[in-house]
Formats: sequence, C-alpha cells, structure tokens
Amino acid sequence: MSDPALSRHNPAALLRWYVDQGVDEAIGEDAIDRFALPPVAVAAVRQPAPAAPSRAPVPAPRAPVPLESPQLVEDARALAERCMSLAELEEAVRAFEGCTLKRTAKNTVFADGTAGAAVMIVGEAPGGDEDRLGKPFVGVSGQLMDRMMAAIGLSREGGFYITNILFWRPPGNRTPTLAEQAMCLAFTRRHIELARPKLLVLAGGVSAKALLDTTDGIMRLRGKWVTYRLSDGTEIPAMPTFHPAYLLRTPASKRQSWQDLLAIDRKLKELTASS
Ligand code: URA
Repeated sequence: MSDPALSRHNPAALLRWYVDQGVDEAIGEDAIDRFALPPVAVAAVRQPAPAAPSRAPVPAPRAPVPLESPQLVEDARALAERCMSLAELEEAVRAFEGCTLKRTAKNTVFADGTAGAAVMIVGEAPGGDEDRLGKPFVGVSGQLMDRMMAAIGLSREGGFYITNILFWRPPGNRTPTLAEQAMCLAFTRRHIELARPKLLVLAGGVSAKALLDTTDGIMRLRGKWVTYRLSDGTEIPAMPTFHPAYLLRTPASKRQSWQDLLAIDRKLKELTASS
C-alpha cells in the first residue's frame, strides 16, 4: 500500500482500496488506528531482525500438521456415503469440523427450495448475505436467479432445490483452496445422489468445473447438455450456465442465459412427459 493517496487524509480512497482487496466487513468492535502505531513498532516491522547471539541451537518448530489433508477429504467422503437421507447429510455437514472455512463463517449454508424437486441448482459458495442468513442465493445474485427461474415457471416453493459446492463462505470471498473444495464436493456429490433431481443446473464455472471434473471454462461449457453420472450409474442431464453474479456484471450475456433457460424448460417438459 505505497500509494500516497492511500493515507489517513483520504479515507474514501483507503476504504475503496480495502473493498478492492476483498475486505467487506470489520471484525472487531473497536476501530484500530494503524497509523497511530508507535514509531518504534513500525520500525521494528521494517528493520531486519538482529542476528541472534550464538548459543545452543533451538530446535526448529515442528511443521504444523496440515489441517486440510487428503485424509480429511477421505473422511468427508466416508461420512457422506454413510448418510441415507438429506436430513442425515445436513446433520453430517453441520457437524463436520474438517474444513477451515467453517471457522470464519457465521453459518453453515446447506440448501433451500424444495428437496426432491425435478431441478437442482448448484452454485459456488455462500456470499455475505447467505452467510448471515444461512440460506443459499438470498443476496442480489440469488434474487436474479429467482427471477430467471420464475421466467420458466419455477420457484423455490415446489419448483427447484438449490445449494452450493461450498457450505461455508470463504473469508472475504477469496477463492477456496483445492482441499476446501474437495471436502465440500464429497458432500455435494452425495447431496445430488440423495436429492435425485431429474436435471441439474450448474451455475458458474466453479460449480461446472468441480462437478464435471473438467478444466474447461464456463464460456466453453455453457449452453450444452452434459451427463452427470451418479455412483449407481444413473445419468442426469446437466446444463452449465452463467452464474447470476456474472450476469449482473455483464448484462449483455443475459441473452445466452435466456437460451439456456429455454433449453432447461424444454428438457424438463420432455423428462416429465416421459416419466
Ligand atoms: N453465489 C453463489 O454461488 N451461491 C450463493 O449462495 C450466493 C452467491
């Protein structure tokens, strides 16, 4: 933060800088005036540490055991597989302590809408509003998602079920680590198996890449039906589509999303007619 505009004399610029860095909430009750740090403390931060006097070697600290080890991903998978109902899965997710995201989140965000509905939407991660309320897609992008689904006659009350790949908000909306994603994904795959939708809507690149296990981006994936296979071999048609947050930033892409919605509507009618 060496920009001279970012000083205590320009609080608006400073606040903007914080927002750009992903800071969207104050943690403590009391403000800390970091400019008022005693010069000695500032100097101590800036000066290289003086060479330690020679004395008996101090043992190096033990490397911390990585919390998000592959074992935790395995634990999540084993736990998820033991769940035989959505209620059991929700309880298991809420009790799972292996994912570091849970430590900073206010709430576990499991799902909303109608369990067992024909359409299941999987998004990326809870944001600030979802974290506060404990429900997925309740902020501005969620409201757009609701309007989009309403355009094809679907609502949370009976029409669709909605969740995310991640059950906890990453602090400052940072990108989740691969381990965090893998742990949550183990539960999400079981979530889909237990909800057994007729079709899946994968909202955004994170969801599509994770569930389809591909490195292709959403620009390439969107608008084309793909097959999502459950562990028992059941095939579910899945439609990757733009995330509503992307549409809010890029309204010109709504035209393509409308095509995706019409394709979802047609597929749903086909599937209901044939069942
Ligand atoms: N974006 C998501 O992907 N999920 C939410 O729940 C909210 C915003």
